[in-house]
Amino acid sequence: MRPIALVVEDDPATCHVLSAALAAAEIDCIFANSALAMWRQMSENPDVIVLDLGLPDADGFELLQQLRQKSDVPVLIHSTRSAEIERIVGIEIGADDFLAKPCNMRELVARVKSLLRRAKGRAGQNGDRPCGMRRFGDWVLDPASRVLIDKNGLPVTIGVSAYALLNAFVDKPFQALSREHLSRALKREYIAYDRIIDVHVSQIRRLLGQQSDGSGYIKTLRSQGYVFTAAVELCDGNA
Ligand code: CA
Repeated sequence: MRPIALVVEDDPATCHVLSAALAAAEIDCIFANSALAMWRQMSENPDVIVLDLGLPDADGFELLQQLRQKSDVPVLIHSTRSAEIERIVGIEIGADDFLAKPCNMRELVARVKSLLRRAKGRAGQNGDRPCGMRRFGDWVLDPASRVLIDKNGLPVTIGVSAYALLNAFVDKPFQALSREHLSRALKREYIAYDRIIDVHVSQIRRLLGQQSDGSGYIKTLRSQGYVFTAAVELCDGNA
């Protein structure tokens, strides 16, 4: 089945260019020219959303925040609001990637495909090796359902990008992981000085909180990247 991209965009010319580029990559497009229309289109279960921040009836950031309470569909922000701070805020509140307008359509299609691969990996359809649940501190990562479970046994919302990164950390505890390595975990080309990895890491840090000894789970290694500093054990998921 061809993946479906929901393009949330109020500029008809941009919609036209996006749909042509995505169609050429065998991705079907559905459209929403407002926040209201986006909520209606969510019933079509899109595989990815390309989100313009400037919509007639909503602020894109608020919309994204509301969306994240209901769905973890991958979101690529495509916006003229492309200052570093906007990118960071966008990722912090749950976008998976950010592309400034106007962008090269080949780049946009590549990013969308990367998000689709990540989401597919998360859904467990890519033939990953089967393995048990992994426990670290108060948390359990369940590779079968691809969710993070808290100490009360409740699933915690985590975006596809943050999930992919956390999974990469849990795979290699106490090992220095470079930003290049972590970019590969995101199935994304590494771009030097791109802060996306750092923003996702701070998101994961905030989500996990502290270990029982008061230290964080992820340490920054100057000019080397990051290291996950908690023991990881296989478990059967029962507390
Ligand atoms: Ca707009």
